[in-house]
Amino acid sequence: MKLSLAVLALTLSSALSFTIPSNAAHRRTVNSDTSMTTQLQATTGVARNKNFAKLAGGYLFPEIGRRRNAYLEQNPSANIISLGIGDTTQPIPSAILKGLVDGATALGTQDGYSGYGAEQGKADLREKISEVLYNGLIDPSEVFVSDGAKCDIQRIQNMFGPDVISAVQDPSYPVYVDTSVMMGQTQQLDEAKGQYDGIVYMECNEANGFYPDVAASPRADVVYICSPNNPTGVAATRAQLEETVKVCKERGSILVFDAAYAPFIRSPDVPKSIFEIEGAKDCAIEVNSFSKYAGFTGVRLGWTVVPEGLKFSDGTPVRQDFNRVMTTSFNGASNIVQAGGLACLSPAGMKEIETLIDYYLENAGILRKTFIDLGYNVYGGTDAPYIFVSLNGKSSWDTFSEILEKAEVVTIPGAGFGPGGEGFLRLSAFAPREGVIEACERLKKAMA
Ligand code: PLP
Repeated sequence: MKLSLAVLALTLSSALSFTIPSNAAHRRTVNSDTSMTTQLQATTGVARNKNFAKLAGGYLFPEIGRRRNAYLEQNPSANIISLGIGDTTQPIPSAILKGLVDGATALGTQDGYSGYGAEQGKADLREKISEVLYNGLIDPSEVFVSDGAKCDIQRIQNMFGPDVISAVQDPSYPVYVDTSVMMGQTQQLDEAKGQYDGIVYMECNEANGFYPDVAASPRADVVYICSPNNPTGVAATRAQLEETVKVCKERGSILVFDAAYAPFIRSPDVPKSIFEIEGAKDCAIEVNSFSKYAGFTGVRLGWTVVPEGLKFSDGTPVRQDFNRVMTTSFNGASNIVQAGGLACLSPAGMKEIETLIDYYLENAGILRKTFIDLGYNVYGGTDAPYIFVSLNGKSSWDTFSEILEKAEVVTIPGAGFGPGGEGFLRLSAFAPREGVIEACERLKKAMA
Protein backbone atom coordinates (compact mmCIF):
# COMPACT_ATOMS: atom_id res chain seq x y z
CA MET A 1 0.00 0.00 0.00
CA LYS A 2 2.77 2.38 1.03
CA LEU A 3 4.66 1.51 -2.11
CA SER A 4 1.71 2.12 -4.43
CA LEU A 5 1.06 5.52 -2.81
CA ALA A 6 4.69 6.42 -3.36
CA VAL A 7 4.45 5.33 -6.98
CA LEU A 8 1.28 7.38 -7.42
CA ALA A 9 2.93 10.46 -5.86
CA LEU A 10 5.92 10.04 -8.16
CA THR A 11 3.73 9.59 -11.22
CA LEU A 12 1.66 12.65 -10.33
CA SER A 13 4.67 14.81 -9.68
CA SER A 14 6.20 13.93 -13.03
CA ALA A 15 2.89 14.43 -14.82
CA LEU A 16 2.23 17.82 -13.28
CA SER A 17 5.66 19.33 -13.42
CA PHE A 18 7.41 20.84 -16.37
CA THR A 19 10.71 22.53 -16.79
CA ILE A 20 11.14 25.72 -18.72
CA PRO A 21 14.36 25.07 -20.59
CA SER A 22 17.25 27.38 -19.90
CA ASN A 23 17.41 30.50 -22.05
CA ALA A 24 20.36 29.39 -24.08
CA ALA A 25 18.93 25.98 -24.85
CA HIS A 26 15.53 27.30 -25.83
CA ARG A 27 16.40 30.28 -27.97
CA ARG A 28 15.52 29.72 -31.56
CA THR A 29 15.21 31.86 -34.64
CA VAL A 30 12.06 32.05 -36.71
CA ASN A 31 11.67 33.32 -40.23
CA SER A 32 14.66 33.37 -42.49
CA ASP A 33 14.18 37.08 -43.27
CA THR A 34 16.78 38.60 -40.95
CA SER A 35 14.90 41.86 -40.46
CA MET A 36 11.98 39.78 -39.09
CA THR A 37 14.21 37.66 -36.88
CA THR A 38 12.63 37.14 -33.49
CA GLN A 39 14.22 35.52 -30.50
CA LEU A 40 11.71 33.29 -28.78
CA GLN A 41 12.02 32.41 -25.17
CA ALA A 42 9.60 30.18 -23.28
CA THR A 43 7.72 31.69 -20.38
CA THR A 44 5.25 28.81 -20.04
CA GLY A 45 5.17 25.07 -20.53
CA VAL A 46 2.28 25.19 -22.99
CA ALA A 47 3.05 23.52 -26.28
CA ARG A 48 2.41 25.64 -29.36
CA ASN A 49 -0.46 24.55 -31.62
CA LYS A 50 1.42 22.44 -34.15
CA ASN A 51 -0.74 23.73 -37.01
CA PHE A 52 0.30 27.31 -36.32
CA ALA A 53 3.91 26.22 -36.47
CA LYS A 54 3.27 25.09 -40.07
CA LEU A 55 2.22 28.58 -41.22
CA ALA A 56 4.76 30.18 -43.50
CA GLY A 57 5.92 33.67 -42.58
CA GLY A 58 3.34 36.24 -41.54
CA TYR A 59 -0.01 37.11 -43.06
CA LEU A 60 0.65 38.92 -46.35
CA PHE A 61 -0.75 42.38 -45.62
CA PRO A 62 1.11 43.05 -42.34
CA GLU A 63 4.28 42.02 -44.20
CA ILE A 64 3.60 44.63 -46.89
CA GLY A 65 3.04 47.22 -44.14
CA ARG A 66 6.30 46.21 -42.48
CA ARG A 67 8.28 46.72 -45.71
CA ARG A 68 6.54 50.04 -46.32
CA ASN A 69 7.42 51.21 -42.80
CA ALA A 70 11.01 50.05 -43.18
CA TYR A 71 11.27 52.16 -46.35
CA LEU A 72 9.75 55.15 -44.54
CA GLU A 73 12.20 54.77 -41.68
CA GLN A 74 15.10 55.00 -44.13
CA ASN A 75 13.41 57.74 -46.19
CA PRO A 76 11.42 59.83 -43.70
CA SER A 77 10.43 62.45 -46.29
CA ALA A 78 9.01 59.89 -48.72
CA ASN A 79 5.51 60.58 -50.04
CA ILE A 80 4.16 57.06 -50.41
CA ILE A 81 0.96 56.33 -52.32
CA SER A 82 -0.68 53.04 -51.40
CA LEU A 83 -2.28 50.94 -54.10
CA GLY A 84 -1.60 47.90 -51.99
CA ILE A 85 -4.00 46.50 -49.41
CA GLY A 86 -7.55 46.60 -50.76
CA ASP A 87 -8.98 48.97 -48.19
CA THR A 88 -11.67 51.49 -49.07
CA THR A 89 -10.76 55.16 -48.80
CA GLN A 90 -13.88 57.18 -49.61
CA PRO A 91 -16.17 58.46 -46.81
CA ILE A 92 -19.46 56.72 -46.10
CA PRO A 93 -22.19 58.53 -48.09
CA SER A 94 -24.90 60.46 -46.28
CA ALA A 95 -28.00 58.22 -46.46
CA ILE A 96 -25.96 55.22 -45.29
CA LEU A 97 -24.24 57.27 -42.61
CA LYS A 98 -27.62 58.44 -41.36
CA GLY A 99 -28.61 54.80 -40.87
CA LEU A 100 -25.56 54.28 -38.66
CA VAL A 101 -26.16 57.49 -36.71
CA ASP A 102 -29.86 56.73 -36.21
CA GLY A 103 -28.96 53.21 -35.09
CA ALA A 104 -26.64 54.66 -32.45
CA THR A 105 -29.07 57.38 -31.38
CA ALA A 106 -31.86 54.85 -30.83
CA LEU A 107 -29.74 53.10 -28.22
CA GLY A 108 -29.99 56.23 -26.05
CA THR A 109 -33.77 56.01 -25.84
CA GLN A 110 -35.94 53.66 -23.80
CA ASP A 111 -37.97 52.56 -26.81
CA GLY A 112 -35.05 52.23 -29.17
CA TYR A 113 -32.66 50.45 -26.83
CA SER A 114 -31.79 46.82 -27.63
CA GLY A 115 -29.24 44.43 -26.16
CA TYR A 116 -28.26 41.09 -27.64
CA GLY A 117 -30.04 40.72 -30.96
CA ALA A 118 -31.52 37.85 -32.93
CA GLU A 119 -28.79 35.25 -33.38
CA GLN A 120 -28.88 35.18 -37.18
CA GLY A 121 -29.19 38.96 -37.43
CA LYS A 122 -32.12 41.38 -37.54
CA ALA A 123 -35.08 39.86 -39.40
CA ASP A 124 -35.67 43.02 -41.45
CA LEU A 125 -32.03 43.08 -42.60
CA ARG A 126 -32.12 39.40 -43.61
CA GLU A 127 -35.34 40.05 -45.53
CA LYS A 128 -33.80 43.03 -47.33
CA ILE A 129 -30.67 41.05 -48.21
CA SER A 130 -32.84 38.30 -49.70
CA GLU A 131 -35.05 40.75 -51.59
CA VAL A 132 -32.64 43.48 -52.76
CA LEU A 133 -29.42 41.54 -53.33
CA TYR A 134 -30.74 38.10 -54.27
CA ASN A 135 -34.04 39.00 -55.87
CA GLY A 136 -35.71 36.36 -53.73
CA LEU A 137 -33.40 33.54 -54.94
CA ILE A 138 -32.67 32.69 -51.32
CA ASP A 139 -34.88 32.75 -48.25
CA PRO A 140 -34.20 35.19 -45.37
CA SER A 141 -33.97 32.17 -43.05
CA GLU A 142 -30.88 31.07 -45.00
CA VAL A 143 -28.99 34.33 -44.27
CA PHE A 144 -26.59 34.63 -41.32
CA VAL A 145 -25.62 38.25 -40.66
CA SER A 146 -22.07 38.61 -39.36
CA ASP A 147 -19.16 40.95 -38.74
CA GLY A 148 -17.60 40.24 -42.13
CA ALA A 149 -16.63 37.70 -44.74
CA LYS A 150 -13.13 37.05 -43.40
CA CYS A 151 -14.50 36.11 -39.99
CA ASP A 152 -17.14 33.91 -41.64
CA ILE A 153 -14.49 32.03 -43.62
CA GLN A 154 -12.74 31.18 -40.34
CA ARG A 155 -16.06 30.10 -38.82
CA ILE A 156 -16.88 27.97 -41.89
CA GLN A 157 -13.50 26.28 -41.46
CA ASN A 158 -14.32 25.76 -37.79
CA MET A 159 -17.49 23.97 -38.85
CA PHE A 160 -15.72 21.74 -41.38
CA GLY A 161 -12.95 20.85 -38.94
CA PRO A 162 -9.58 19.24 -39.60
CA ASP A 163 -10.62 16.18 -41.62
CA VAL A 164 -11.71 17.77 -44.90
CA ILE A 165 -9.61 18.44 -47.97
CA SER A 166 -9.88 22.00 -49.25
CA ALA A 167 -9.26 23.24 -52.79
CA VAL A 168 -8.31 26.82 -53.60
CA GLN A 169 -7.69 28.87 -56.70
CA ASP A 170 -4.00 29.61 -57.12
CA PRO A 171 -3.51 32.56 -56.75
CA SER A 172 -6.20 33.39 -54.20
CA TYR A 173 -7.11 35.49 -51.16
CA PRO A 174 -4.70 34.04 -48.56
CA VAL A 175 -7.37 33.48 -45.88
CA TYR A 176 -8.66 30.20 -47.41
CA VAL A 177 -5.22 28.58 -47.25
CA ASP A 178 -4.14 30.02 -43.91
CA THR A 179 -7.36 29.02 -42.13
CA SER A 180 -7.10 25.51 -43.63
CA VAL A 181 -3.60 25.26 -42.15
CA MET A 182 -4.71 26.63 -38.78
CA MET A 183 -7.55 24.06 -38.67
CA GLY A 184 -5.09 21.21 -39.18
CA GLN A 185 -6.33 20.20 -42.63
CA THR A 186 -2.83 20.22 -44.11
CA GLN A 187 0.60 18.79 -43.68
CA GLN A 188 3.75 20.91 -43.92
CA LEU A 189 4.58 23.57 -46.46
CA ASP A 190 6.44 22.14 -49.43
CA GLU A 191 9.12 24.84 -49.62
CA ALA A 192 10.08 24.02 -53.20
CA LYS A 193 6.51 24.32 -54.49
CA GLY A 194 5.41 27.03 -52.05
CA GLN A 195 2.29 24.92 -51.42
CA TYR A 196 0.98 23.04 -48.39
CA ASP A 197 0.65 19.30 -48.76
CA GLY A 198 -2.98 18.37 -48.25
CA ILE A 199 -4.51 21.35 -50.08
CA VAL A 200 -5.60 21.11 -53.72
CA TYR A 201 -4.24 24.11 -55.61
CA MET A 202 -6.27 24.83 -58.75
CA GLU A 203 -4.07 26.71 -61.17
CA CYS A 204 -5.31 30.00 -62.57
CA ASN A 205 -3.19 31.51 -65.31
CA GLU A 206 -3.26 33.56 -68.48
CA ALA A 207 -3.92 30.45 -70.57
CA ASN A 208 -7.10 29.48 -68.70
CA GLY A 209 -8.35 33.05 -68.27
CA PHE A 210 -7.54 32.88 -64.55
CA TYR A 211 -10.34 30.40 -63.87
CA PRO A 212 -9.40 26.89 -62.80
CA ASP A 213 -10.30 23.64 -64.49
CA VAL A 214 -12.12 22.22 -61.46
CA ALA A 215 -12.93 18.95 -63.23
CA ALA A 216 -9.25 18.34 -63.99
CA SER A 217 -8.24 19.02 -60.37
CA PRO A 218 -8.30 16.25 -57.76
CA ARG A 219 -11.55 15.99 -55.78
CA ALA A 220 -11.73 18.10 -52.64
CA ASP A 221 -14.44 18.17 -49.98
CA VAL A 222 -14.60 21.96 -49.92
CA VAL A 223 -13.90 24.09 -52.98
CA TYR A 224 -13.23 27.83 -52.46
CA ILE A 225 -14.06 30.03 -55.42
CA CYS A 226 -13.87 33.81 -55.33
CA SER A 227 -15.51 35.88 -58.07
CA PRO A 228 -14.65 38.56 -58.96
CA ASN A 229 -11.35 37.19 -57.82
CA ASN A 230 -8.84 38.73 -55.49
CA PRO A 231 -6.05 39.17 -56.63
CA THR A 232 -6.61 38.65 -60.38
CA GLY A 233 -9.66 40.93 -60.68
CA VAL A 234 -11.21 38.42 -63.08
CA ALA A 235 -14.92 37.57 -62.71
CA ALA A 236 -16.07 34.05 -63.54
CA THR A 237 -18.45 33.66 -66.47
CA ARG A 238 -21.83 31.97 -66.15
CA ALA A 239 -20.55 28.95 -68.11
CA GLN A 240 -17.54 28.57 -65.79
CA LEU A 241 -19.74 28.70 -62.69
CA GLU A 242 -22.23 26.25 -64.21
CA GLU A 243 -19.41 23.81 -64.84
CA THR A 244 -18.06 24.27 -61.28
CA VAL A 245 -21.49 23.65 -59.72
CA LYS A 246 -21.92 20.57 -61.92
CA VAL A 247 -18.55 19.15 -60.87
CA CYS A 248 -19.16 19.89 -57.17
CA LYS A 249 -22.54 18.16 -57.31
CA GLU A 250 -21.13 15.11 -59.13
CA ARG A 251 -18.31 14.81 -56.62
CA GLY A 252 -20.35 15.59 -53.51
CA SER A 253 -18.19 18.63 -52.72
CA ILE A 254 -19.32 21.81 -51.00
CA LEU A 255 -18.56 25.00 -52.90
CA VAL A 256 -17.75 28.03 -50.74
CA PHE A 257 -18.34 31.01 -52.98
CA ASP A 258 -16.81 34.33 -51.91
CA ALA A 259 -18.75 37.16 -53.53
CA ALA A 260 -17.19 40.05 -51.57
CA TYR A 261 -16.57 41.99 -54.82
CA ALA A 262 -19.96 41.26 -56.44
CA PRO A 263 -21.08 44.92 -56.58
CA PHE A 264 -18.21 45.70 -58.97
CA ILE A 265 -19.64 43.42 -61.65
CA ARG A 266 -20.89 45.52 -64.53
CA SER A 267 -20.80 42.98 -67.37
CA PRO A 268 -24.46 42.10 -67.87
CA ASP A 269 -24.20 38.29 -68.03
CA VAL A 270 -21.66 37.78 -65.24
CA PRO A 271 -23.40 36.28 -62.16
CA LYS A 272 -23.16 38.26 -58.93
CA SER A 273 -24.15 35.30 -56.79
CA ILE A 274 -23.58 31.57 -57.07
CA PHE A 275 -27.30 31.13 -56.46
CA GLU A 276 -27.96 32.49 -59.95
CA ILE A 277 -26.65 29.13 -61.12
CA GLU A 278 -29.13 26.28 -61.26
CA GLY A 279 -28.41 23.55 -58.73
CA ALA A 280 -26.13 25.75 -56.59
CA LYS A 281 -28.45 25.48 -53.61
CA ASP A 282 -27.64 21.76 -53.52
CA CYS A 283 -23.90 22.31 -53.11
CA ALA A 284 -22.94 25.91 -52.27
CA ILE A 285 -22.49 28.34 -49.40
CA GLU A 286 -21.94 32.02 -50.21
CA VAL A 287 -19.97 34.48 -48.08
CA ASN A 288 -20.44 38.16 -48.69
CA SER A 289 -19.81 41.54 -47.14
CA PHE A 290 -20.79 45.19 -46.96
CA SER A 291 -17.08 46.07 -46.71
CA LYS A 292 -16.57 46.92 -50.37
CA TYR A 293 -20.20 47.79 -51.08
CA ALA A 294 -20.33 50.77 -48.79
CA GLY A 295 -16.89 51.40 -47.31
CA PHE A 296 -17.72 49.22 -44.28
CA THR A 297 -14.22 47.69 -43.97
CA GLY A 298 -13.89 49.32 -40.54
CA VAL A 299 -17.59 49.29 -39.68
CA ARG A 300 -17.76 45.47 -40.09
CA LEU A 301 -20.84 43.83 -41.55
CA GLY A 302 -21.18 40.76 -43.73
CA TRP A 303 -23.35 37.73 -44.24
CA THR A 304 -23.25 34.09 -45.21
CA VAL A 305 -25.98 32.21 -47.04
CA VAL A 306 -26.36 28.54 -46.15
CA PRO A 307 -29.19 26.92 -48.13
CA GLU A 308 -31.68 24.98 -46.06
CA GLY A 309 -31.41 21.83 -48.16
CA LEU A 310 -27.61 21.57 -48.05
CA LYS A 311 -26.62 18.48 -46.06
CA PHE A 312 -23.51 16.63 -44.91
CA SER A 313 -22.96 13.00 -45.89
CA ASP A 314 -24.79 11.80 -42.75
CA GLY A 315 -27.85 13.90 -43.61
CA THR A 316 -27.23 16.67 -41.05
CA PRO A 317 -28.19 20.08 -42.45
CA VAL A 318 -25.07 22.23 -42.90
CA ARG A 319 -27.19 25.14 -41.69
CA GLN A 320 -27.68 23.42 -38.33
CA ASP A 321 -23.93 23.18 -37.71
CA PHE A 322 -23.19 26.67 -39.00
CA ASN A 323 -25.91 27.98 -36.70
CA ARG A 324 -24.20 26.14 -33.85
CA VAL A 325 -20.85 27.77 -34.65
CA MET A 326 -22.44 31.22 -34.91
CA THR A 327 -24.44 30.92 -31.71
CA THR A 328 -21.51 29.50 -29.76
CA SER A 329 -18.67 31.74 -30.84
CA PHE A 330 -20.36 34.89 -32.12
CA ASN A 331 -22.98 37.08 -30.49
CA GLY A 332 -24.36 38.81 -33.53
CA ALA A 333 -23.31 41.84 -35.56
CA SER A 334 -23.53 45.20 -33.80
CA ASN A 335 -27.10 46.54 -33.78
CA ILE A 336 -25.80 49.97 -34.85
CA VAL A 337 -24.04 48.47 -37.83
CA GLN A 338 -27.07 46.42 -38.84
CA ALA A 339 -29.05 49.67 -38.94
CA GLY A 340 -26.34 50.93 -41.33
CA GLY A 341 -26.78 47.75 -43.39
CA LEU A 342 -30.51 48.43 -43.71
CA ALA A 343 -29.71 51.95 -44.90
CA CYS A 344 -27.37 50.46 -47.54
CA LEU A 345 -30.26 48.45 -48.93
CA SER A 346 -32.71 51.36 -49.11
CA PRO A 347 -33.16 52.89 -52.60
CA ALA A 348 -31.09 55.94 -51.56
CA GLY A 349 -28.36 53.72 -50.10
CA MET A 350 -28.18 51.53 -53.22
CA LYS A 351 -27.78 54.66 -55.35
CA GLU A 352 -24.94 55.87 -53.15
CA ILE A 353 -23.27 52.44 -53.38
CA GLU A 354 -23.43 52.59 -57.16
CA THR A 355 -21.76 56.01 -57.18
CA LEU A 356 -19.02 54.79 -54.84
CA ILE A 357 -18.35 51.70 -56.94
CA ASP A 358 -18.29 53.81 -60.13
CA TYR A 359 -15.59 55.96 -58.53
CA TYR A 360 -13.37 52.97 -57.75
CA LEU A 361 -14.02 51.39 -61.16
CA GLU A 362 -12.91 54.63 -62.83
CA ASN A 363 -9.72 54.42 -60.76
CA ALA A 364 -9.29 50.84 -61.97
CA GLY A 365 -9.73 52.05 -65.56
CA ILE A 366 -6.98 54.68 -65.10
CA LEU A 367 -4.62 52.05 -63.70
CA ARG A 368 -5.45 49.60 -66.49
CA LYS A 369 -4.80 52.17 -69.19
CA THR A 370 -1.48 53.21 -67.64
CA PHE A 371 -0.09 49.69 -67.71
CA ILE A 372 -1.56 48.85 -71.11
CA ASP A 373 0.07 52.02 -72.52
CA LEU A 374 3.34 50.91 -70.94
CA GLY A 375 3.04 47.69 -72.95
CA TYR A 376 2.04 45.26 -70.21
CA ASN A 377 -0.63 42.56 -70.32
CA VAL A 378 -3.26 43.62 -67.80
CA TYR A 379 -6.12 41.57 -66.35
CA GLY A 380 -9.12 42.52 -64.21
CA GLY A 381 -10.18 46.05 -63.39
CA THR A 382 -13.43 46.02 -65.37
CA ASP A 383 -15.67 43.99 -63.03
CA ALA A 384 -13.38 44.32 -60.02
CA PRO A 385 -11.36 46.89 -58.09
CA TYR A 386 -8.05 45.11 -58.78
CA ILE A 387 -5.80 44.97 -61.80
CA PHE A 388 -3.31 42.15 -62.22
CA VAL A 389 -0.28 43.02 -64.31
CA SER A 390 1.92 40.42 -66.00
CA LEU A 391 5.58 41.23 -65.32
CA ASN A 392 6.90 39.26 -68.30
CA GLY A 393 8.75 36.78 -66.13
CA LYS A 394 10.15 39.23 -63.57
CA SER A 395 9.96 38.43 -59.86
CA SER A 396 6.97 40.02 -58.18
CA TRP A 397 8.74 40.79 -54.87
CA ASP A 398 11.65 42.40 -56.80
CA THR A 399 9.21 44.51 -58.80
CA PHE A 400 7.34 45.45 -55.61
CA SER A 401 10.63 46.72 -54.09
CA GLU A 402 11.69 48.46 -57.29
CA ILE A 403 8.37 50.34 -57.57
CA LEU A 404 8.47 51.25 -53.88
CA GLU A 405 11.97 52.69 -54.27
CA LYS A 406 11.62 54.36 -57.68
CA ALA A 407 8.00 55.58 -57.53
CA GLU A 408 7.17 55.42 -53.82
CA VAL A 409 4.02 53.46 -54.71
CA VAL A 410 2.96 50.43 -52.68
CA THR A 411 1.64 47.50 -54.73
CA ILE A 412 1.20 43.82 -53.84
CA PRO A 413 3.44 41.11 -55.28
CA GLY A 414 1.36 38.36 -56.85
CA ALA A 415 3.49 35.70 -55.12
CA GLY A 416 1.86 36.76 -51.84
CA PHE A 417 -1.34 35.11 -53.07
CA GLY A 418 0.22 31.74 -53.82
CA PRO A 419 2.85 30.44 -56.22
CA GLY A 420 0.45 30.93 -59.14
CA GLY A 421 0.67 34.69 -58.55
CA GLU A 422 4.41 34.85 -59.16
CA GLY A 423 5.27 37.05 -62.12
CA PHE A 424 2.29 39.35 -61.51
CA LEU A 425 1.60 42.50 -59.54
CA ARG A 426 -1.75 43.42 -57.99
CA LEU A 427 -2.78 47.08 -57.87
CA SER A 428 -5.83 48.23 -55.96
CA ALA A 429 -8.24 50.89 -57.15
CA PHE A 430 -9.20 51.72 -53.56
CA ALA A 431 -7.53 55.13 -53.35
CA PRO A 432 -8.46 58.79 -53.70
CA ARG A 433 -8.51 59.83 -57.38
CA GLU A 434 -5.67 62.32 -57.09
CA GLY A 435 -3.50 59.58 -55.54
CA VAL A 436 -4.23 57.24 -58.45
CA ILE A 437 -3.39 59.93 -61.02
CA GLU A 438 -0.16 60.88 -59.24
CA ALA A 439 0.79 57.20 -58.83
CA CYS A 440 0.24 56.59 -62.55
CA GLU A 441 2.48 59.54 -63.46
CA ARG A 442 5.23 58.15 -61.25
CA LEU A 443 4.74 54.60 -62.57
CA LYS A 444 5.02 55.83 -66.16
CA LYS A 445 8.43 57.31 -65.35
CA ALA A 446 9.61 54.39 -63.22
CA MET A 447 8.54 51.60 -65.54
CA ALA A 448 9.02 53.16 -68.97
N1 PLP B 1 -13.05 37.99 -49.25
C1 PLP B 1 -12.17 38.53 -50.09
C2 PLP B 1 -11.91 37.88 -51.39
C3 PLP B 1 -11.48 39.69 -49.75
O1 PLP B 1 -10.57 40.21 -50.59
C4 PLP B 1 -11.74 40.30 -48.51
C5 PLP B 1 -11.04 41.53 -48.09
O2 PLP B 1 -10.20 42.09 -48.69
C6 PLP B 1 -12.65 39.69 -47.66
C7 PLP B 1 -13.29 38.54 -48.06
C8 PLP B 1 -12.87 40.25 -46.30
O3 PLP B 1 -14.09 40.87 -46.17
P1 PLP B 1 -14.55 41.47 -44.79
O4 PLP B 1 -14.05 42.86 -44.70
O5 PLP B 1 -16.04 41.38 -44.88
O6 PLP B 1 -14.03 40.60 -43.70
